[in-house]
Amino acid sequence: MAQIALSQIEKRYGNVEVLRDINLTIQDGEFVVLVGPSGCGKSTLLRTIAGLELASAGDIHIGERLMNDVAPRDRDISMVFQSYALYPHLTVARNMGFSLEVQKRPKAEIEEKVKRAAQILSLSHLLDRRPKELSGGQRQRVAMGRAIVRQPQVFLFDEPLSNLDAQLRGQMRVEIKKLHQQMNNTIVYVTHDQVEAMTLADRIVVLNHGVIQQVGTPLELYDTPANQFVASFIGSPAMNFIPGRVTAAGVDVGAQQCLPANPGWSSALQGREVIYGIRPENIALAESGDDAALPFTVSLIEPTGLSELIHGSLFGHNLMIYSTRRSGAQPGDVIGVTPDAPRAMLFDASNQRRL
Ligand code: ADP
Repeated sequence: MAQIALSQIEKRYGNVEVLRDINLTIQDGEFVVLVGPSGCGKSTLLRTIAGLELASAGDIHIGERLMNDVAPRDRDISMVFQSYALYPHLTVARNMGFSLEVQKRPKAEIEEKVKRAAQILSLSHLLDRRPKELSGGQRQRVAMGRAIVRQPQVFLFDEPLSNLDAQLRGQMRVEIKKLHQQMNNTIVYVTHDQVEAMTLADRIVVLNHGVIQQVGTPLELYDTPANQFVASFIGSPAMNFIPGRVTAAGVDVGAQQCLPANPGWSSALQGREVIYGIRPENIALAESGDDAALPFTVSLIEPTGLSELIHGSLFGHNLMIYSTRRSGAQPGDVIGVTPDAPRAMLFDASNQRRL
C-alpha cells in the first residue's frame, strides 16, 4: 500500500490543455474517486498515474518513489478497465493468475493467490469456466480478481461499472466497497456517476475542464460546495439555481418577489448579484393555511412510489421539488411551498463561487 502524491501535473495534446495544475495527495489506504462530466480529463489523470500517459509537466510519487520515468509495469499498480479485457480462451482461474504466470511464479503460489482472490470475490465455484459462460457482473469480478492477485500497492479503476445494468451496478458498488473495507488498499476510481462517487469515496475529487474544482468527503461537497459547478454536479436530483439580487428582505428574483434569506448570510451581501441555490429536497410542500408559503405552479410530476419529483415554476423560474410526501397535485395546480432557508446557498453571479 502507498500514498500517491501528484504535484503540478499538466497534460497537453499539442495546443489542447487537458489537465491543469493538478495537486493532490492520496493517503495510504484511501479510496479516492475522480468525478466529472465526460471529457473533463479524469481518465487522462488516471492513465497518467498508471504511466500509460506521460505528464507534460509535474511530478508523480507513489510511496517514496518518483514515478515520472518509471514504466507502467514497474509502478506496482493494477488497473481495472470498463472493458474487462479478459482472455476468452482461458478459464477464470487462468485469467486471474495470468500476470503471475508471465512472471514465472511457482504454480503453488499462483493457485493459492487465485484461490484467495476467488474467495473474496465469490468466484470459487466459477474458476473452471470461460468468460463467455459468465454474466457481466461475474466478468467484472474476474477483472477485479486479476488485479487483486498481483497484490499491488495501488488499484486504479476506470469506470469499471459502466457496462452493467443499473441493478448490477448497485450490487457491484457494494462489493467494491466491501472489498476496500477488507483489503484497505489505496484506490483511485474514475466515474462520471456522482451517485457512485458519493457512495464509494472516502474523498471525492471533482474535475471540470481539466481543473480540480474541489476535494472533500462526500458530505463536505454536498453541504459546502466550493462553487456552482460542484453544487450542480453533486446531489441528485440537481440543485435549483435562480438568479437574483440580495436585499434586506431576502433575494429579489424579479417581479418584485423575494426568496427567504438564510439567517447565516452576512448583511454585507446586500446589493450583490447572486445565484440563489436550493436543493429539491430542501423545499417542503406547505400545510394548507401557511401564510408564509410561496405559490408554485406544477407542470409535471414524476412519482417513484417512495417520492415525487415535482417540476414547475416559482415566480417565473423553473424549479424542482423532491418530496417524500405525496402532493396529490395535478399539472396546472398552484400549491404552497416553503424553502428551508437555512439550507439555501448563494453563489457570486460573476464567478460562480459560493458566498
Ligand atoms: P474523461 O475521462 O473525463 O471523459 P478524458 O481524460 O478521456 O476525459 O479526455 C479529456 C480530454 O482530452 C477530452 O477533451 C479528450 O478529447 C482529450 N483527449 C484525450 N486523449 C487525447 C489525445 N490522444 N489527443 C488529443 N486529445 C485527447
